[in-house]
Amino acid sequence: MSKVLIIGAGGVSSVAVHKMAMNASIFTEIHLASRTKSKCDAIAKSVKERTGVDIATYEIDAEEVPALTRLIRQVEPKLVVNLALPYQDLPIMDACLEAGVHYLDTANYEPKDEAKFEYKWQWAYQEKFREKGLMALLGSGFDPGVTSVFAMWLKKHKLSTIRTLDILDCNGGDHGQAFATNFNPEINIREVTAPARHWEKGEWVETPAMQISQSFDFDQVGPKNMYLMYHEELESLSKFVPELERARFWMTFGDEYIKHLTVLQNVGLTGIEPITYQGKEIVPLQFLAAVLPKPETLGETTKGKTNIGDIATGEALDGSGEKTFYIYNICDHEEANAETGNQAVSYTTGVPAMVGAAMMLTGRWSGEGVFNMEQLDPDPFLEMLATNGLPWQVKELPAPLDF
Ligand code: NDP
Repeated sequence: MSKVLIIGAGGVSSVAVHKMAMNASIFTEIHLASRTKSKCDAIAKSVKERTGVDIATYEIDAEEVPALTRLIRQVEPKLVVNLALPYQDLPIMDACLEAGVHYLDTANYEPKDEAKFEYKWQWAYQEKFREKGLMALLGSGFDPGVTSVFAMWLKKHKLSTIRTLDILDCNGGDHGQAFATNFNPEINIREVTAPARHWEKGEWVETPAMQISQSFDFDQVGPKNMYLMYHEELESLSKFVPELERARFWMTFGDEYIKHLTVLQNVGLTGIEPITYQGKEIVPLQFLAAVLPKPETLGETTKGKTNIGDIATGEALDGSGEKTFYIYNICDHEEANAETGNQAVSYTTGVPAMVGAAMMLTGRWSGEGVFNMEQLDPDPFLEMLATNGLPWQVKELPAPLDF
């Protein structure tokens, strides 16, 4: 019997819960709690209609550690899957420690008043989880998540060392809206407007946000402009793949997205410093997020595909010299929506969250302490990912990237 409690009821949670219900032999009991219970109930209704599985739902503010601890003790899950926002990571980890259950998330902790995502806060929980004999798995989404597992799969099966690594995240989908984000708008805009950072020769190189771009021809999507950005897996990859000479993260954005974002930034609507408006304190970015389309409403209208993967260059395992491999997944927005009622960005995050949870519940991934995806065997994870809607492919490229 493996009982699981999921926290958060947005697009990513919706996909993960649907996929857990489709793997009922592993997830024998599914409980879902979030700040707004009606959103949990809507997911439960869709899951019941699509799979026949019943989901128990609860209202919880995950930042209230004593209340969350009580809920975990009441439900008695083996694992808590955190699909709320990065701000809730530490309180949910605290409640898991109190109640004695394992923990998983898809995004690293960010303090609300500082757009800075780093693993240091969660890595500081290492001893606490180890002492209690519990496992915390960090970043089990697509990026972070699968992109790190892809790198480790290449290191296990193709390359003895990785000299350079580029993560390429392309969303070739069109949602038909003038401007919308494909996951939580507040988190998305904080990420995109932060300075770019990449790892080069043992140190971080910082450049202004959205300044360095390249065109790349993505399989089944076509040529797109992609922008150099900072992304959290660069921190864990540079730690767990110490030989990396250079690691970069690129994400595609259309001209319309850039145009809207530039205007919003120029008029101050992406700021995270509170301002006083009609006697009330508001955070401009939170106000903006409230008026933008909700990511979970984009499923019906989004068409096209995502293509996310890693290009790695290094010494071949078979001693044949330096080689370059490209490993990636393509996901179709409309197919994702037909299966779970959510577009591919939620789908490509929710499926790996379910697979990471399955790895922990079945004991194929186990340990005591705080773990990043790079520390665990890539094979069982990628096998299950491929049979649960996210097949991947690997090919050898004739030469390293020329940029
Ligand atoms: P949404 O904003 O759609 O959903 C977030 C959910 O968390 C909402 O249901 C929200 O409740 C709930 N929530 C927020 N605050 C609290 C709280 N204090 N207590 C309880 N519940 C709370 O986000 P997404 O589904 O798009 O993203 C979910 C997570 O996935 C985020 O952390 C995001 O960063 C991460 N992500 C990771 C990716 C990866 O590849 N690794 C890619 C995309 C996203 P309410 O409905 O009341 O607002």
